[in-house]
Order: sequence, then C-alpha cells, then structure tokens
Amino acid sequence: MSKKLLIDLLKLRDFPDSKADAVLLTGNPAKSFKTVRELATFLYTCRRCENAPCINACPAKALEKEENGIVSRAVNLCIRCKSCIVICPFGTLMNDLFEVKTSGYKFFNITDENSLTQFAELFPDDVICIIEKDANPDENIYALNEKILIKESIWS
Ligand code: SF4
Ligand code: SF4
Repeated sequence: MSKKLLIDLLKLRDFPDSKADAVLLTGNPAKSFKTVRELATFLYTCRRCENAPCINACPAKALEKEENGIVSRAVNLCIRCKSCIVICPFGTLMNDLFEVKTSGYKFFNITDENSLTQFAELFPDDVICIIEKDANPDENIYALNEKILIKESIWS
C-alpha cells in the first residue's frame, strides 16, 4: 500500500496561517492553483444544492456544476467578490477560501509525492499526517486523489 497524506479538513480550516498550500498545477488557467481545501470543500463539504444559490449569485459566471454535480470555480474568472460565500445557506465556503496568496507563500504540487511530503511536514500530525491507508467512509475518510485522503463529516 502506498503512502498518502491524510488531511483533517476541519482542523486544516482552523489551523493558523501556515503560509503554505498544496495546489493543483495545470496548464489550464481555470483550474490551476486550486488549493487542496477548495477541491476538498466542493467535493465533500458542499451539499450540491439543486438550484445552487452560489452559482446564481456569482456575478462573474465563475461557478458551474460539473456533470457529476460537483460545483467548480473557474479561477481565471473569479473576481473574489465573496457573494457565493455570503449566500451559501450551509456556510460551506469560508471567507479565506478564494483569497489570493501573496508573497511569502510556499506552494506544493498536489499530485507530487515529494512535494506533498514537504507540505505535510509543516503541519502537526493531527492536521496532516502521512499514512499507509485507503479511503474508508466508516471513518469519514475519503479520497481526493490517489495521494491525498480527506477526513470530513459528510452531510446525508
Ligand atoms: S450554496 Fe453552498 S452547499 Fe449549495 S451548492 Fe453552493 S457551495 Fe454547495
Ligand atoms: S467569489 Fe464572487 S466571483 Fe468568485 S466564485 Fe464566488 S461569487 Fe463568483
């Protein structure tokens, strides 16, 4: 079994600013630089509202639902107005979620094992740890990708 990062999403949310983020690095400007928190929040915290208020409120048309029902933000369109954050009835989206990270930040590649190991080392083990384990919904542990597991209490 290969090693993976286990990220406790709730604790990561509340962790004091670490000046570090694991991000998606792609050639696609709509997707590049999405943080692990943004990806995990839309994948596992968001309730995928049928007539999503966040999408309707977005003045930049930066939010859309993908075919699988997951809400996705086009990074290159988002003007960071926070309308979606304010209107979400479940408090899914937090104020700091889409902020531009200024200088002094370290970015780690969400798909690279070495990079993720360095990222994990910046956090206490109860926030992010390296384990040999698979996703297990009974423990509220879900896969974000093949290298990252997310611990989150999913709504039902
Ligand atoms: S309003 Fe909130 S819970 Fe509903 S789809 Fe948008 S982000 Fe998800
Ligand atoms: S912050 Fe504003 S522009 Fe960006 S996704 Fe939310 S509503 Fe749209």
